[in-house]
Amino acid sequence: MKKLETQSTVLLKHHLKALKLPAFHAECEKTAARCATENVDHLGFLLQLSELELIQREKRASERRLKAARFPNPKTLEDFQFEAQPSINRMLLGELLRGEYIEKREAVIFVGNPGTGKTHLATALGMAACQQGKRVRFWRVTELITQLMEAREERLLTRMKTQLAKLDVMILDELGYVPASKLGSELLFDVISTAYERTSVIVTTNLPFEQWTEVLGSERLTGAVLDRLTHRCHILESTGESYRLKDARRRVGNKKAAAKTSLHGESDASGKHAVWGLPASANAAENQEKPAKTDESQRQN
Ligand code: ADP
Ligand code: MG
Repeated sequence: MKKLETQSTVLLKHHLKALKLPAFHAECEKTAARCATENVDHLGFLLQLSELELIQREKRASERRLKAARFPNPKTLEDFQFEAQPSINRMLLGELLRGEYIEKREAVIFVGNPGTGKTHLATALGMAACQQGKRVRFWRVTELITQLMEAREERLLTRMKTQLAKLDVMILDELGYVPASKLGSELLFDVISTAYERTSVIVTTNLPFEQWTEVLGSERLTGAVLDRLTHRCHILESTGESYRLKDARRRVGNKKAAAKTSLHGESDASGKHAVWGLPASANAAENQEKPAKTDESQRQN
């Protein structure tokens, strides 16, 4: 076979760059050499290169979607220990991970105590959606409300709502931590009702539904929000105590055990669960998210 002259190769590379085909640009010579030794014809060569281009393009798009989603910390289902949170419906989660709920514009609500993995699981669902080609955006509810109010003040609300309308999945994290103002609740309601049957909404909350009025203010508004969110939704409840707290307790426990070993078994007379000065059932303190300020939880908060 006649080989392309160096000058022509330079020209080809220039064209491939202009056509924005980086995989063709980077791989054409290597692939051509391989195809020549393996006796692959021209069409086969072109097929191999276009496959490479497509794979790399999809990878870059997925990375862009992940970046645009603004997840606070990447989390996957693989790093979730289901044994530590047996109350979570594992089968339902597996089903949700496949993403049919997005096609059906259904909502997902994670309800449970702080530290029980709600944000982790919502992020895992969102990341899976990004990998499936969906446009996702993660918001802390307070952050979304602040941005909506700012946009309204600057007369940019319509623009912001147009951007929100382009999403396939909207994650509203931590509904219930801070009560919203009247205007804030109304703006949030507007976003939720616009998303209704158009965008899948994933909500995480530490509040049972009957207490949502405390956050949204009016009963009428809360009723309307719940009506839309729960019309077609999947509810996942996580019970029990904070994973952070358990993890911190386990780590301190390990340290104590190590210290004990080095002190030849000196006993700890200060109480069984004296970690962070908390009693064994630390629910009240836990609900305020104060204890167990581990490195991990500090990054989370
Ligand atoms: P929540 O949103 O319910 O307050 P998070 O999802 O923020 O809780 O969880 C707190 C921390 O504990 C996170 O770092 C999370 O990854 C981790 N975590 C929670 N539950 C589990 C679990 N069952 N397995 C592994 N990590 C967990
Ligand atoms: Mg959370």
